[in-house]
Amino acid sequence: MISEPLAKLADSALNAVFPADIYCICCGDVLDGSRKDGLCDACAAKLPWAFDNPFETYMEEFAFDDVWPCVRYGFHARRIMNGLKNGGKAYMAKNVASMLAERVQLEWQMPDAFAAVPSHRDKLRQRGYNQAELLAKETARLLKLPHWDGLLEKVKSTGSLRMASGQERRSMLADSFAVSGAYQKALAGRFICLVDDVTTTGSTADACARVLKAAGASRVALLCFGASSGYKKSPEADAEEENR
Ligand SMILES: [Zn+2]
Repeated sequence: MISEPLAKLADSALNAVFPADIYCICCGDVLDGSRKDGLCDACAAKLPWAFDNPFETYMEEFAFDDVWPCVRYGFHARRIMNGLKNGGKAYMAKNVASMLAERVQLEWQMPDAFAAVPSHRDKLRQRGYNQAELLAKETARLLKLPHWDGLLEKVKSTGSLRMASGQERRSMLADSFAVSGAYQKALAGRFICLVDDVTTTGSTADACARVLKAAGASRVALLCFGASSGYKKSPEADAEEENR
């Protein structure tokens, strides 16, 4: 059993040996060109790019006003997210954020600030970082827009959402997020871009958006790297939604 400081050291050593911009963030092959997104040409061609809101036809169910995804969530996107979330490769946030920033630039209205969907506390302890916060920070930096670090806090842990109905999820997630005190007055009339790595059922982002709206935000868009192509209640979608 490796101790935590040793594991951290091993991680930073790995990051030094496998830095961004040398190896493809998806397949791990040596990069053939200098792409900002850290993808080799083969993976860039294989990724199922999808910029449309996957929840378009039932948006009345959600508190967010729009969804801005980059790719349809599947094998390739999962591989990338696995490196960022479970592989200790925090540097990959820079590559993924370059894709998020490009996605935002397809929109006609820029948000007032970027904020992350909070992580579960035990996941935060395991990883040492919230991948969504890294993505929010880096995307904001690339677009020269504000990043409101720690805007949302997780104040209540939810039980497993697995196989709960939409309505059940909503009530389980209600009140599990809160706006942190420092930002209480800043939200009035603001357009917030909520950032997450992946959305499957949309229920976590919906709970966050409800809290932001209640605190005065005028508009909330969900920016995510991967989004599943539609609402589906499946063990797989639930597991992704919970692996925060
Ligand atoms: Zn590749």
